[in-house]
Amino acid sequence: MLLTIEGLRVAYGAIEALHGISLRVGEGQIVTLIGANGAGKTTLLRCLSGLIRPASGRVVFDGREITGMPPHALVRLGIVQAPEGRRIFGPLTVWENLLLGGYLYTWDAEAARRFQLVLRLFPALRVRLTQRGGTLSGGEQQMLAIARALMARPRLLLLDEPSTGLAPVLVRQIFEHIGDIRREGVTVLLVEQNARQALRLADYAYVMERGTIVLEGPGHALLADRAVRSTYLGITS
Ligand code: ATP
Repeated sequence: MLLTIEGLRVAYGAIEALHGISLRVGEGQIVTLIGANGAGKTTLLRCLSGLIRPASGRVVFDGREITGMPPHALVRLGIVQAPEGRRIFGPLTVWENLLLGGYLYTWDAEAARRFQLVLRLFPALRVRLTQRGGTLSGGEQQMLAIARALMARPRLLLLDEPSTGLAPVLVRQIFEHIGDIRREGVTVLLVEQNARQALRLADYAYVMERGTIVLEGPGHALLADRAVRSTYLGITS
């Protein structure tokens, strides 16, 4: 397993948001986490990127305990979260945004290779390199946010609702891109409200409710699960 989380508890002040979460992400997989608003999905990602410390529990990445490590140390290990809500740098060009994603290393042959990879994955960005980030469409900004995270050489890419606010055709594109990213060998932990598409894509999935995991299984198995269908896919029969 690339990532193992055991018994993770997180509290905001006196209120516990995660009540002992355990989950695993295998190398090269897409694992998705679905659940209603407030279930604790973002809190779990914040914990994995070092923005909040758990009250208890363990996080092991590639055989090494990383519980409570600060964000910069986690990024160096290869845990990278794409900025939430398309938080790219609006006044900077697409090219400059991508360069910032690679701030960890000096520009070398590997960085150049990675830059080519990112442009291959997101060809729409290739023609916009000199354009300011803020002038891109919503879908392009979301692609830039993911592309920037990929420049940081992630081994585990954390995505928090990348399809939110996008038109259906762009949602499909984003999910296709996430599949392409897996093909490049990057492991993905994907938090999504769009349960149907996320489950279709995922090798394995977890359903969260009110701070606990209530269901888990291969994506296609959860797509067929009666409770998942009625609660998250809106199918009653
Ligand atoms: P969403 O899809 O709306 O982002 P979520 O599943 O990501 O939902 P979280 O944002 O992780 O859920 O929230 C989990 C719980 O923790 C919720 O009850 C929420 O109100 C609470 N919470 C989240 N952030 C804070 C905070 N900064 N301070 C206090 N409580 C918080």
